[in-house]
Amino acid sequence: MRGLLPSLSYPFSAVETRSGGPFAGVPGTGTERGYVDHHVHFMASVAAGLSVDVTTSTSLVELLDRLREGIDVSGRSGGGAAAGSGAPCAGSKLAWVRAWGYDEALMAERRHPTRWDLDRVCASRGATDVPLVVHHRSGHVAVLNSAALRRLGRGDHPDGVVFDGHEILAGVPRLDVATLTSAAASLSRKWASAGITAFVDATHTNGPEELDLMARWCATGVVVQDVSMMVSVERLGDVPPFATVLGDPNAPGPARLSVGPVKLMPRPGRLDGLRQAIVEAHERGFPAAVHVVDVETLAVTLEAFAKSPPPTGLADRLEHNALSLPEQVPAIAASKARVVVNPGFLATRRTKYERELGDVERGWLIRMRSLLEAGVDLRAGSDSPVSAADPEQIIGCAISHPFTPGESLDPASARRLLSW
Ligand SMILES: [Zn+2]
Repeated sequence: MRGLLPSLSYPFSAVETRSGGPFAGVPGTGTERGYVDHHVHFMASVAAGLSVDVTTSTSLVELLDRLREGIDVSGRSGGGAAAGSGAPCAGSKLAWVRAWGYDEALMAERRHPTRWDLDRVCASRGATDVPLVVHHRSGHVAVLNSAALRRLGRGDHPDGVVFDGHEILAGVPRLDVATLTSAAASLSRKWASAGITAFVDATHTNGPEELDLMARWCATGVVVQDVSMMVSVERLGDVPPFATVLGDPNAPGPARLSVGPVKLMPRPGRLDGLRQAIVEAHERGFPAAVHVVDVETLAVTLEAFAKSPPPTGLADRLEHNALSLPEQVPAIAASKARVVVNPGFLATRRTKYERELGDVERGWLIRMRSLLEAGVDLRAGSDSPVSAADPEQIIGCAISHPFTPGESLDPASARRLLSW
């Protein structure tokens, strides 16, 4: 989501270095209680709230209808940045319209929309020159209409469906800082009202600009939670050491920001790069947090962890750990890595799992009890905006695994998944 950020160049003001990682809150402020969401993407969640919401689309027809309404409201009228509308971006002649949250696996046609689908929607509103970008719920796919592709110099793109296209999407104008800040304040308070007093931002592109903006938001009370922010392996030369606490010691806001582990997103078929990145993170004093959703990536990651231990006193992390074979459970425990699962997916992605996984694979899905019994340090996160930052939903799913009842937890263990 780097492309959404305003340009900021404030210097860091590191005021304190802690050796033990994220803190448990500030005594006397109430922040020592409450839930910790161990895996969110805060800026993506803010941006999702400023986009046309297409999360509930069960068909392309529904998705395109929702976009048609969104363009009518926000594209031509130049409407405001209220949550739920497609907020226009500053600095462009015709405002861009953003939409967020479809999942082709949950739509009847089982395919992404294309630039031609989006062009037809825009044409039906007489808005063929309005640039439109529609983000997949996973954050890994975006679809651009022809006006958007032309603006980005990609007018010859075959269908406008872009996979992990950070370079292309970096050309999309940024939301202005006032809009982002006000949406961030609303989102943080919404999470606080759900009992979330701390979160870990697991965005793999985080660098000094993202840390700086979050430090200001924490220091000024825009964000009221304690935050641990993971960082990109490519920005390690530009960010303070692991566990550095950033911000102004005299700031009124009780929330504090610390530098988190290095987040690694393995590319399918390019797992050699993952091994090297783990070594690099460790050599620079950071634990590694690896995005792991399949058994092959899990195997490679565990092997790499075994060859390259984290810095003394620190633990690596496995993010998601969606699928793991029975024989991988003891290997996970032996790695001493913290595992952060997403039990909420069992509710929000249930249909997808039923369609795409066989009975045997569903038995390997989102393990909890077997990991705890093996001695694994287990925690949970929402992966917001992929799934809502809703502690009660996460706990409910952890108590009642819909596919493998034996992986369900007792209520106390389920709540502990959302503690530091
Ligand atoms: Zn994530």
